[in-house]
Amino acid sequence: MDPWLVAVPSFAAGLAGLTAYGAVHPRSQLFCHTLFQTDQAKKLALTFDDGPNPAITPKLLDLLDRHHAKATFFLVGKWVRESPTLAKEMSDRGHLLGNHTDTHPNLFFCGPQETRTELLRCSEAIGQATWAEPRWFRPPYGFRSPWLGSLVLQQRMRMVMWTLLPGDWRLKPADWLIDRMKPIAAHAQNLRSPNQPSQKPSTGDILCLHDGDYARPNGDRAHTLAALEYWLPRWRDLGLEFVTMKQTNGKVVEA
Ligand SMILES: [Zn+2]
Repeated sequence: MDPWLVAVPSFAAGLAGLTAYGAVHPRSQLFCHTLFQTDQAKKLALTFDDGPNPAITPKLLDLLDRHHAKATFFLVGKWVRESPTLAKEMSDRGHLLGNHTDTHPNLFFCGPQETRTELLRCSEAIGQATWAEPRWFRPPYGFRSPWLGSLVLQQRMRMVMWTLLPGDWRLKPADWLIDRMKPIAAHAQNLRSPNQPSQKPSTGDILCLHDGDYARPNGDRAHTLAALEYWLPRWRDLGLEFVTMKQTNGKVVEA
């Protein structure tokens, strides 16, 4: 049997697998440098995608205030144009705003020009609402393309992924979501354990939640609020500090 008959398809399959990994895996550095952890184990970066959402975001801002927590919000441009005052309020209350594209497409299937426009229009919407352009970017669905990295850098932003994606876009009971968020507390407990320093984590979590729904206005994210209500005081008791992406020293941790 000709070895090429075996080798070529398996090489192609391997390449396709590698491309898929590079496109979507949160730790992949294939297409560009990507932040996916904070620079200290005790620093927890709370991040929220797909807003602003008038039905949920104001309640979330109050909840975060009650726990003295600042977060990073990756906003969708079309929703910023719908609620510019809310976007301004988020920024005024000390939260960091990031770009999550204008219409939330899967960028893996967008060409360079379309991708560039998606990024620019979102930054423009945030700039008009808040007088400050975002310096942080999160790709919709976590999908990246070979040209996304350079476009993000050209627009003076940094790419941010996550360590934990509990899946709060699913309409599940709060208990289900609370359970899915357990790994954050497990890491914090490990940090406080009597283990040797070398066995303890040196980097912290970036948690990806959603205060909006990219497809429809006023998306129901009450379970996200309830799960945070449960975890925020517990995380604080475990010694975690809530930081924005700006407060992690902007360190890129290599995979
Ligand atoms: Zn999204």
